[in-house]
Amino acid sequence: MFLVRLVYTSKLSDAFSSDDITDILASARKHNSRNHVTGLLCFSSNYFLQCIEGSRSAINRTYHRILNDPRHEDIVMLDYKEINRREFSHWHMGYVPYTALTRDVNMLFSGSPEFNPYEMSGESAHQLMLALKDTVDMV
Ligand code: FAD
Repeated sequence: MFLVRLVYTSKLSDAFSSDDITDILASARKHNSRNHVTGLLCFSSNYFLQCIEGSRSAINRTYHRILNDPRHEDIVMLDYKEINRREFSHWHMGYVPYTALTRDVNMLFSGSPEFNPYEMSGESAHQLMLALKDTVDMV
């Protein structure tokens, strides 16, 4: 069972309320721990950006569940790749708070200082998350 990495972005839906982030992280960590899935979730007032890594079958199942979640919408896969090793192996779902998504970081990886993953390439989105590893908050 080889490893894959999937990166997607989405928009918060009307069904989302700010308290939901705690539930989403708890549910993600419960499932991901069982399925040996690791990754990172960035969350702003408008967008989610998430990377999940694990076996191809586990990532497929996880992504299907995520796609059906009414708390977000307009889900776009930015990157899907076979990988040799994990990059977020410490976290069943590491959380990057909005405060870490500074103008300087956004300028490094996108064309404007605002955080908008829909305007980023898959590779830039992946590189942004790698650069934010040190800011991961376990909530
Ligand atoms: P339940 O928790 O019982 O939920 C059943 C259904 O209700 C699901 O369709 C769920 O999407 C929906 N639901 C649950 N709570 C609410 C709510 N408060 N309001 C509206 N609908 C609700 N899951 C993972 O396993 N791994 C991840 O990495 C992961 N990342 C996520 C990232 C984001 C941005 C979001 C929005 C969700 C993520 N999830 C993740 C959660 C995933 O979408 C499912 O909710 C969860 O995996 C399903 O858990 P469950 O089968 O126990 O169903």
